[in-house]
Amino acid sequence: MEYEAVIGLEVHAQLSTKTKIFCSCSTDFGSEPNSQTCPVCLGLPGVLPVLNKKALNYAIKTGLALNSRIAPLSRFARKNYFYPDLPKNYQISQYELPICEGGYIEIMVDNEIKRINLTRIHLEEDAGKNIHEGKIPYSLVDLNRTGVPLMEIVSEPDIRTSKEASEYMKKLRTILRYIDVCDGNMEQGSLRCDANVSVRPLGQKEFGVKVELKNMNSFKYVEKALEYEIKRQISILKEGGRILQETRLFDSDLGTTHSMRSKEQAHDYRYFPDPDLVPIIIDEGLLNEIRATLPELPDIKRQRFVRDFGLTDYDAEFLSSERALSEWFEEAVKAGGQPKACANWIMGDLTKLLKDDGKSIDECPIKPHQLASMITLIDKGVISGKIAKSIFQDIYKTGKDADLIVKEKGLVQITDTSEIEKIINEIMSTHTKEVERYRQGETKLLSFFAGQVMKATKGKANPQLLNDLLKAKLG
Ligand code: ADP
Ligand code: ZN
Ligand code: MG
Repeated sequence: MEYEAVIGLEVHAQLSTKTKIFCSCSTDFGSEPNSQTCPVCLGLPGVLPVLNKKALNYAIKTGLALNSRIAPLSRFARKNYFYPDLPKNYQISQYELPICEGGYIEIMVDNEIKRINLTRIHLEEDAGKNIHEGKIPYSLVDLNRTGVPLMEIVSEPDIRTSKEASEYMKKLRTILRYIDVCDGNMEQGSLRCDANVSVRPLGQKEFGVKVELKNMNSFKYVEKALEYEIKRQISILKEGGRILQETRLFDSDLGTTHSMRSKEQAHDYRYFPDPDLVPIIIDEGLLNEIRATLPELPDIKRQRFVRDFGLTDYDAEFLSSERALSEWFEEAVKAGGQPKACANWIMGDLTKLLKDDGKSIDECPIKPHQLASMITLIDKGVISGKIAKSIFQDIYKTGKDADLIVKEKGLVQITDTSEIEKIINEIMSTHTKEVERYRQGETKLLSFFAGQVMKATKGKANPQLLNDLLKAKLG
């Protein structure tokens, strides 16, 4: 019997506000433990939370970008449970009236667009962090993270493979970064994913019993954990066993999952509306205001790059994956760079230089117009594509423009027929054996001769011209 997986993701995204969701403490990462706390986020008696307007606006912005309905009326609820990292003994979250309902994210699956529907998006506060370190016989609690604003984005069980799950995560991250509401840093935990997964015989309508997976802090781990879990569940069913509804933790060292708690131990959170916070009423005016701040979104941009610049889907996808990268590309095109050439240089040489240097596109020492003018030099035949590669590195290192580097280093391409012919003659006279072999039919030696001429001219001979002249002389 064949099985298929059914997957739904619950993603927590930290909103990139300067302050927490219900107090004015800083949200900076990595500060001295408990240095960013106050009576509100410490949960001391007698204090009142006040909603951070920016956090609300960011959630609405996300809902608009993800095609959700924004609830005209929503409300916060208390999710009650006891844990040392939760000083109030309840988390302020949303329950029966979330800020956004419905919506979808589109991903590419086998060259086709697949729509993954969303259930809801709600706002909530983060909890603190328990630290178990060294040999001390107790745990420490850091409450800096308590009250940091989170959005929980819940998908419908529309995902069918581990690959689709990571594509969904990637697209979601791209959109959140585009609209500037979350930095998407999975290692620092600004973007966290819980995956719900079940399997069922192909063709069966009903869902199987689901398992919740936690602790995956990269796209790769999301994929790995799901792959392992899907295999595990299928083999249990094949042996006639039953899947237990439980929460399992992913172990990245072993690449496996192990049980954390079963559904029997699951909490009853006794949700009820938080009486300390007023209901949120959102009118058309605010929606329009926020809608006006939305940038062009990645899917639309990708399609435009294909349509307007004649890029392939692959190139357009790559260049639209980061907003800053897409803007760098468009600036280079605006400065006169031929789009396909700009795309190639950015995706190849520039990406590699940045990667080796540990820099992001925002920190790129080359300016878009500098790429454009270098490409123009190639198009005009002033420099060869090969020389351009080393010039490009020089621009990166020195910040100088291509034409200046060409002048300083004497890199102008040789397009003078007689000059190239002279060098070809010299090389033919010192390699008479190879000339003989070529004339006997070993035509692949053409590249040997081309290489010799390039060496003699330090790569400056015009390749097309060189090729034509060589063929004529040798033939
Ligand atoms: P719970 O009550 O355990 O929180 P929900 O119905 O709220 O479960 O769903 C939580 C997440 O699990 C959602 O992302 C949803 O799409 C997904 N999900 C629900 N049922 C299944 C299932 N049988 N298999 C896989 N995922 C599921
Ligand atoms: Zn505080
Ligand atoms: Mg639920």
